[in-house]
Amino acid sequence: MSAKNRVKSWIRPQIQAIKAYPVADATGLIKLDAMENPYGWPEAMQAEWATLLRGIQVNRYPDPQARTLVAELRKGMDIPADMGVLLGNGSDEIIQMLMLSVGGTQGTAVLSVEPSFVMYAMIARFCGLGYIGVPLKADDFSLDLPALLAAIKQHQPALIFLAWPNNPTGNLFAEDQVIQIIRAAPGLVVIDEAYGPFTDSSFLNRLGDFDNLLVMRTLSKMGLAGLRLGYLVGHPAWIEQIDKVRMPYNINVLSQVTAEFALRHKAIFDQQAAEIRAERGHMMEQLTRLPGIRVFPSEANFILIRVAEGQAQSIFNAMKEQGVLIKCLDGSHALLKDCLRLTIGTAEENQLCLKALEACLV
Ligand SMILES: *Cc1c(COP(=O)(O)O)cnc(C)c1O
Repeated sequence: MSAKNRVKSWIRPQIQAIKAYPVADATGLIKLDAMENPYGWPEAMQAEWATLLRGIQVNRYPDPQARTLVAELRKGMDIPADMGVLLGNGSDEIIQMLMLSVGGTQGTAVLSVEPSFVMYAMIARFCGLGYIGVPLKADDFSLDLPALLAAIKQHQPALIFLAWPNNPTGNLFAEDQVIQIIRAAPGLVVIDEAYGPFTDSSFLNRLGDFDNLLVMRTLSKMGLAGLRLGYLVGHPAWIEQIDKVRMPYNINVLSQVTAEFALRHKAIFDQQAAEIRAERGHMMEQLTRLPGIRVFPSEANFILIRVAEGQAQSIFNAMKEQGVLIKCLDGSHALLKDCLRLTIGTAEENQLCLKALEACLV
């Protein structure tokens, strides 16, 4: 028997059917494909960090509760004192923990909108849960509230994920509609605030208003994508249960110490987020002036655009030829036809991105 045959009989069919999450090779390119913060740290901060790292005992297991880090997070991120906090190795791991924890009496469904963050559907499949994706409105990617309320009623989802602002569309859904969904949901609603640093809106201070609401955040988009640190905030009764499926040492000691350090220097990250927001404004303005493209509003650190019919892939390729890596979304979902997503980089990177894009349009 060959390995391939054994794989066929012993790997779950749902897993065999999945394509692994694709990550583009960015070697030598300006990387504007993955919503990373483009800025580094001041030299003095790097030196201070290196000294801290030198003192770490990697022969010891990390603090399984990461208490110092949680305390810094509570302070730096204004987490309400009466709410519980759960840490994940990136918010991806938190999504997985949530999906491993929930279960309903008549089968367990996870619901989100489409297009949105692809990991909701993917992890649901890993975990053997049913996934329902309710399309957003085609014209502006706003919520289709009647369709959502009908789907909630029909499927009784254990978990609803709403990315707010949404990825890859960049918009915030209307707050009153999100609230209607929280009220209509029989189970948990998770507001994914991965792009929190780039908007003034948040549900963090409304957690106490609903007994089925959790807010999920990450340090990735703020500037620590390499660390892999996400956090979930909500009523301690929920957090206590979900914490049971967490691997005891899921946040390694280097991440713990580095995140604590970064949070003590949060002013620097706030400053960088402010610069990214200002750059987003400039990009928005300049993109709007380009002929033949539609620019969608954004409260995140990226901008979604729609180019002329059938041109997205060739523009993506031509921009890559010119050294700029963006994300081509055409083909990933029917509503994203002819769409490209541009992450906001430094002022210089953004100008090169614009120049490369402009060269494709004439
Ligand atoms: C990037 C992103 C995440 C992933 O965050 P990690 O903490 O890096 O795993 C989660 N949700 C949304 C909507 C994202 O765009």
